[in-house]
This record gives sequence, C-alpha cells and structure tokens, in this order.
Amino acid sequence: MPSTPNDPHGFKRRGVLFVLSSPSGAGKSTIARMLLAADPELAMSVSATTRPMRPGEVDGKDYHFVDLEEFRRMAAEDEFLEWAHVFNNRYGTPRAQVEEMLAAGKDVLFDIDWQGAQQLFQIAGGDVVRVFIFPPSMEELRQRLERRATDAQEVIDARMARATNEVSHWDGYDYVLVNDDVERCFEGVRTILAAERLKRSRQTGLIGFIRKLTR
Ligand code: 5GP
Repeated sequence: MPSTPNDPHGFKRRGVLFVLSSPSGAGKSTIARMLLAADPELAMSVSATTRPMRPGEVDGKDYHFVDLEEFRRMAAEDEFLEWAHVFNNRYGTPRAQVEEMLAAGKDVLFDIDWQGAQQLFQIAGGDVVRVFIFPPSMEELRQRLERRATDAQEVIDARMARATNEVSHWDGYDYVLVNDDVERCFEGVRTILAAERLKRSRQTGLIGFIRKLTR
C-alpha cells in the first residue's frame, strides 16, 4: 500500500479497514461524515442493501439500493466481502470497491453491524480496526430515533430491540466510545485512526528506512 500524506513519516504502509458500529441512532453516521470531511485519505465503503430507500437518501451514495434478486446474484457471484441480515433486510459490502480504494492508497471506512465487523475480521485480521460507539443511554437513543421521525413507531420499537442486541456485542470490538458529546466522540475516533496508522505492523516500508538509518 503506498504511503499517504497523513502519515507523518511517509512510510509505505498497509491500508486500514476502519469499522464503525453502533446501534442506529447513536450518531455513527454523523461521526462517519465528520471523519470523511476531515480526512481526504479515508474513503467510505458504500454497502448494497435490499431495504427501501428513506427520504433524503441517495442511491450510490448512502447505499446501492438493489432488489433481492440482484442481492442474491451478487452474493452467489462472490461480489461481497461480507454480508448479513439486519432488520429483515440484507446488507453487504461490495468487494471490488474496497479493493480499488486500498489500491489507491486510501484507508476504508465501514458503517456495518457486528456481524459484518466479525466477518471482515475473519477475512482481513490485522488490517481491520473495530470501533464501537455507545449511545449515552438507551432512553436517549429512543428519543433520538423518535426525533428522526423517518420511521413508524413499530420500526422504532424494532430498532430499539435490535439496538439492545447490537450493544450486547460490544466485546467483539477493539475500541469503545460513548457518544455523549459528538465533538469529543469524533476526536476520540480520529485519535484511534491516527494511532492505528502508525502501528509498526502496518509499516511495510519500515525495513528500508531502518537500513538507511543504521547504515
Ligand atoms: P440502516 O438501515 O439504518 O441504514 O442500517 C442498519 C444497520 O445495517 C446498521 O447497523 C448498519 O451499520 C448496518 N449495515 C449497513 N451496511 C452494512 C453492510 O454492508 N454489512 C453489514 N453487515 N451491516 C451493514
């Protein structure tokens, strides 16, 4: 993987597969947007999903919205790095796009659930960094989902049940943060990414540097 301008020492290194998970409504999309805006070396993996588009969403930007038949075809042809059932719909990470981003020297950001985080870790191990964002409380989460008001009450109830389940998988993550203040949470996530980029195991160009240093 080529080095990127955000690497202070300019070593060549392997790209980071940076996973952000949280129950929906815990502010993960906001944090993801802030990270992408602050960091040109980070690219977003856009998932495919069979769930219907919500108002304001853009096909190809928020998700690739596909029907079940197309999703099944993609899965059968091994076009997904990982995929999972979430809330009766299917969500998957298209493989080609991630490979292109890594080849272009980018780190890749994933907004996927615990099942996706687990599968990605099985495939890519040490290249994967898994970050879990907790809501400040489940009550606050319910209020956020209700304020968002894009979903019917029964959908909100189902999301709360799902959120409780999602939170129960916190121990499958490398880092955990509480989103009680969006700026602070964002800074925390940025710090994790910065530290992970400097990890010795990612520095494929380090040997050459050390040889020169000690010559
Ligand atoms: P939503 O429908 O609210 O956009 O997303 C529902 C859940 O699906 C979120 O927890 C989100 O992280 C997860 N999700 C989105 N894309 C993927 C994906 O490609 N794979 C997996 N495993 N989960 C995903």
